Amino acid sequence: MGKLLNFIDKFMYGRYGLDPLGIVIIAVSLLFAIIGRAFFLFYILALALIGYEIYRILSRNIPAREKENSIITNMFNRTERSRDDYVHFSCPNCGQHLRIPAGLGQKRITCPKCNARFVKRT
Ligand SMILES: [Zn+2]
Repeated sequence: MGKLLNFIDKFMYGRYGLDPLGIVIIAVSLLFAIIGRAFFLFYILALALIGYEIYRILSRNIPAREKENSIITNMFNRTERSRDDYVHFSCPNCGQHLRIPAGLGQKRITCPKCNARFVKRT
């Protein structure tokens, strides 16, 4: 077993390997393989996707593979960022739900409901 792992280690040296895009490709191809039991065309697509992903895993052109992967990671990062655009909190005086843009540092806030003033770190 150790010998086999050693062989895989050597074989994979300098190759790209699995990334988030690869996991998505494998998941989609598994789904296509299942659909392919009813529609043969999807079975072909599943085989094509698996073939493509094996090519990506074994590829030595790492910048090209990272560029492909960035399509997926950018998609996730964008949703992450929009969620973190604002800091949500409650007014310590009246409990009114408030939000302020994130990343402003120390900020003086006047509650629009009860006019209480306080300082908030973002
Ligand atoms: Zn208030």
